[in-house]
Amino acid sequence: GDFPIETDTIVIGAGPGGYVAAIRAAQLGQKVTIVEKNEVGGVCLNVGCIPSKALINVGHKYLDAKESADIGISAEQVKVDWSKVQAFKSSVVKKLTGGVSGLLKGNKVEIVKGEAFFVDSNSLRVIGENSAQTYQFKNAIVATGSRPIELPTFKFSKRVLDSTGALNLEEIPNEIVIIGGGVIGLELGGVYANFGTKVTILEGTSDILGGNYPKQMTQLVKKNFKSKGAEIITNAMAKGVEESDTGVEVTYEVGGKEEKISADYVFVMVGRRPNTDELGLEQAGVKLTDRGLVEIDKQCRTNVPNIYAIGDIVAGPQLAHKASYEGKIAAEAIAGLPAEIDYLGIPAVVFSDPELASVGYTPEQAKEEGIEVTVGKFPFAASGRSLALNNTDGFYQIVVRKEDGVVIGGQIAGPNASDLIAEIGLAVEAGMTAEDIALTIHAHPTFGENAMEAAEVALGSPIHII
Ligand code: FAD
Repeated sequence: GDFPIETDTIVIGAGPGGYVAAIRAAQLGQKVTIVEKNEVGGVCLNVGCIPSKALINVGHKYLDAKESADIGISAEQVKVDWSKVQAFKSSVVKKLTGGVSGLLKGNKVEIVKGEAFFVDSNSLRVIGENSAQTYQFKNAIVATGSRPIELPTFKFSKRVLDSTGALNLEEIPNEIVIIGGGVIGLELGGVYANFGTKVTILEGTSDILGGNYPKQMTQLVKKNFKSKGAEIITNAMAKGVEESDTGVEVTYEVGGKEEKISADYVFVMVGRRPNTDELGLEQAGVKLTDRGLVEIDKQCRTNVPNIYAIGDIVAGPQLAHKASYEGKIAAEAIAGLPAEIDYLGIPAVVFSDPELASVGYTPEQAKEEGIEVTVGKFPFAASGRSLALNNTDGFYQIVVRKEDGVVIGGQIAGPNASDLIAEIGLAVEAGMTAEDIALTIHAHPTFGENAMEAAEVALGSPIHII
């Protein structure tokens, strides 16, 4: 229509940042409109966290069925019906995106389908399929997320795939090459390696995961890939690709020598760029950094006081729970509440084999900042639960500040690391000491006990290791 629609808070993008911000803003009494050009749920629910975890889970079930002879289970023939696997994945996504729509509606958030462009700092234009509408807002929360980086030498095509293409393959390939040994490359490489694909990962730097995890952790993941016949080539620069009807030939350089490798597909997983270039932020006067990120203060406010930005378009780790956390802060800041961001308690998880998880400080980071720490480390191999589950790779460590015994971080590599990290996150957030954890009675036999054991190691009096 020609008349602008007025709203209190408009949210652009309905990913884990935007939809959470919208719900919280509505709970706080604001009239909220959320604009989404694709599906509700954003990257995370539709083509990120959720579908990848569904495939990872199925891969583990397949491996378990195939490789349990040493504990007395052998199956004659374990078969994969890939179209069913894909259908399962899609059904999970559909349930969750449907759930998010329901939550938005239940909180009286108006959902508008279309692409938003700022006209100025108080209005936007939303272009729908066959309509356009202007919205006037008091406050805006920009949560437009990110998209895969395309390399000029690796244009996306039928066989040169981004993460979305990699999640939607119609077959299990015989061979894939992955450019980039980051979280997404390792997780999706792991999926296909578990289904028997020969995987080669080309990583430009000297270690996987961008140096964000201690070597002892990345080592375990590399060893596991190797045991499945996968190869991780570090310090390897991908140069270009020749594509045919049936596959690709990737050229890369390592140690000054040019090499070639053939595969069915090449996955390009070299990072994601913020979606800040096509929504008229400059018309609203919002400042960007060189890398296209939006600059914000501790309340997620941009340089324009009534415009906020959250999630993958601002600095920090590109994680769904970080986006949601910032979404709540932005909504609360708009309501005049004193919420502020503190990133120390944001966990990071890699759903590799074994899983890796970290929160707060690593011992190395603490050292760099001159904080003296004691590290309490407990191996999964000493856990009864681990042995009973025949899964003993990895360790649990907590990082304790010497000065006052407060837990300032922790790292876990091993089964269920993704869930176990929550306890260390709680300790970091609440300022608990190693003694608090050691005094907490943990059920036996569980992986959770590793927290207590690691805390006792930090205190110098472990029961279950010498
Ligand atoms: P997004 O989820 O990207 O949502 C932004 C939304 O804005 C999109 O729906 C987009 O369509 C919409 N939009 C953009 N521009 C406009 C416009 N102009 N008008 C209207 N709408 C617009 N993170 C984890 O924490 N755990 C994981 O396990 C995990 N796994 C991942 C696996 C993969 C394969 C990928 C790709 C990512 C994964 N991530 C994971 C990262 C996670 O998906 C992102 O960090 C998260 O989705 C960011 O949330 P967001 O709200 O900032 O943006």
